[in-house]
Amino acid sequence: MTQPRRATIGQHETSNAEAMTNKVTFRNNESRGDTYAIRCQHCARDTKHEVVASCKRTSEVQMHDGDIDIDTDEYQLVRCRGCEYVSFREHSLYGNGAFEDEAIYPPRSIHSRETKRFPGMPAAMGNVYGQTIGCYNSDSLLLCAAGIRVLVEALCAHKGVADGPVPLANGTVKRKDNLEGKISGLQEKGFITADAAETLHNLRFLGNEALHEHLDPPRREVLNAIEILEHVLHQIFTLPRQGQVMKNARALRAK
Ligand SMILES: [Zn+2]
Repeated sequence: MTQPRRATIGQHETSNAEAMTNKVTFRNNESRGDTYAIRCQHCARDTKHEVVASCKRTSEVQMHDGDIDIDTDEYQLVRCRGCEYVSFREHSLYGNGAFEDEAIYPPRSIHSRETKRFPGMPAAMGNVYGQTIGCYNSDSLLLCAAGIRVLVEALCAHKGVADGPVPLANGTVKRKDNLEGKISGLQEKGFITADAAETLHNLRFLGNEALHEHLDPPRREVLNAIEILEHVLHQIFTLPRQGQVMKNARALRAK
């Protein structure tokens, strides 16, 4: 995975004690049209990315011994030639080209997942969802699991689901207001299917104990939960919004 790195501005410059002069220049769009093979979040594979805009910072430092040390930092907007998704690439050469660094934003790995849009979803929930996917994409699976839990709770609060029926070991059923009860409540009110509820119930990492053990949950389980939640978010927020848009369009045509 390509890790994000702090901007290198000033990072590799020589201290004043060793350097005499330090000249910094900027050149725009020098690399426009260049292409690089970069992993695309949307295409989920390496694709050709084309530079659509760039800014190159060159720093020349004249040393006391007469040598000139040149560092370059190039900042590029790159667009996937497949899906046209735009990313940011930062490329640095320092030590007169002896060392090289590359970082791509947003960060991505072979497991990277796209942050989807759910029109109609409250901003606060969108924030939790975005952070949850960010944790997944940076391999922070424990924090991702915590985010999934917060998202389930927020979904229940939004739909007014405070509890639900939970079967007990003695064969009876009791209403509970813990996470287990709320997931059952989501099913009871028809927001999720029985299959989805069963999958969520089976995710051990959603339980208090698992989160408190501080162990990374299995990636496959976390992904299952994300897929179910995205499906639910689409059904609850996006579909009604799309239906309303179509209704408005029909009303306009009828006028
Ligand atoms: Zn792409």
